[in-house]
Amino acid sequence: MNILLRALQTAAKNFPTRHALVLAAASSCIALSLVFIPGKDAQAKRTEIPSSLSDADTASLKDAEKILSSAGEVPDSSVAPNAIVPDVAGKPAQTSGKDYTDTNLHHPVIAWERTKVRAGDTLSAIFSRERLSAGTLQRILRTSEHGNTLADIRPGQAIVFGRVNGELQGLKYVRNRLESIEFTRTDNGFISEEVVRTPEIRLAHSTATIRNSLFHAGAKAGLSDNMTMRLANIFAWDIDFVQGIRDGDTFNLVFEEKYLDGEKIGYGNILAATFTNRGTTHKAIYYTDSKGNSDYYTPDGKSMRKSFIRTPVEFTRISSRFNLNRVHPLFKTKRPHRGVDYAAPTGTPIKASGDGIIKLAGRQKGYGNVVYIQHPNNIVTVYAHQSRIAKGIRKGVRVKQGQTIGYVGMTGWATGPHLHYEFRINGTHRNPLTVKLPDATPLAKAEMSAFKRQTQIMLAELEQKSGTLLASAEENSNVTTQ
Ligand SMILES: [Zn+2]
Repeated sequence: MNILLRALQTAAKNFPTRHALVLAAASSCIALSLVFIPGKDAQAKRTEIPSSLSDADTASLKDAEKILSSAGEVPDSSVAPNAIVPDVAGKPAQTSGKDYTDTNLHHPVIAWERTKVRAGDTLSAIFSRERLSAGTLQRILRTSEHGNTLADIRPGQAIVFGRVNGELQGLKYVRNRLESIEFTRTDNGFISEEVVRTPEIRLAHSTATIRNSLFHAGAKAGLSDNMTMRLANIFAWDIDFVQGIRDGDTFNLVFEEKYLDGEKIGYGNILAATFTNRGTTHKAIYYTDSKGNSDYYTPDGKSMRKSFIRTPVEFTRISSRFNLNRVHPLFKTKRPHRGVDYAAPTGTPIKASGDGIIKLAGRQKGYGNVVYIQHPNNIVTVYAHQSRIAKGIRKGVRVKQGQTIGYVGMTGWATGPHLHYEFRINGTHRNPLTVKLPDATPLAKAEMSAFKRQTQIMLAELEQKSGTLLASAEENSNVTTQ
């Protein structure tokens, strides 16, 4: 852990929340040098790249670009070239010279102390434990805008008291890690303010060589199973993760981690990744276009996805295939089967196989509860026999690929719970299991220059990091095991 970062975090504990935020931001700006955390496994390594991003959901490659390019300009050092001095509360009093003006007289240092709300605690109990008067409590409750929120205190939450010479100057009610209410003494009682924190985003990097399984390698590279799953989903159109993974396959990714007070609280997006499967390297870049839509693209701007997923439901077996000469099980007459039946338990979610607009959502005699989706290029997909149609799915509504549109059932003419799925091009039924699926829409021409710029930076970053990490992994294994 970077020494400067830790010092600033320690300092931050002594300041009100907003100061802590300023410090956190300052520390991440200063400490752009890479923090290297060796993994347990010699083949799997990850690093963290502290960044100054402030919001997980809006962070994009544009921000990453800024950080990565500026990271290159900052010397690799744990000492800040220009330490940012916190505001008055943190300034030391002058100790020499003729000028005896002491800033502390004008801006006295508040001593902050934190106490946990215990089971069965009341506010007045906490106040008397803290040797604060009932009168002070009443002033906070009566004069401040958020006084009533203090009635909601629950065990496990915290209250932070700020005193000067024993007198209460401020109080923070910490509802959870991200939300608190701050009360500040004024001449006319207390004023209050709701403070909502945004986690800090840091960029991290992982690389691994697969020896046993994908998830095993992911875990050794410091990824949660969920992150490994997300990585696999990016490449799911090009790599068969069930049958096709081999020992020696490698992956390499840059992703976001969310931090609060120096502690990791979750993951953000995977920003770029490569996956080498049986000698072929696939590359994916996360890009948010000018309309705010985010997706993964190959370095030349093609979508990583197809416009349709082959199978819109997790099924147990295919109970009936596309067959134009089938004898119908109920009517015992020759009736073509113009779709595929996927047997699955009642209630299994059914997903839109591609982006489109709902053309019909309702009941039809043989199909029971059915949804038709109109897609570009005159393609229509049909999802029949649903136990129920998902909430909000009705004619004219736009749906995204993978969005749940309903649930498996056996309404209409069905002998058991299954999804009857059809794929129609220009009104002609095609076999959903074999029809050639079109590629998803590539990146618009207008986006290409911005996209290319970010792609270059990201891929260089990936390449450089994986090179460094693998080299150091080999060094480590030489030293420690041979
Ligand atoms: Zn069917």
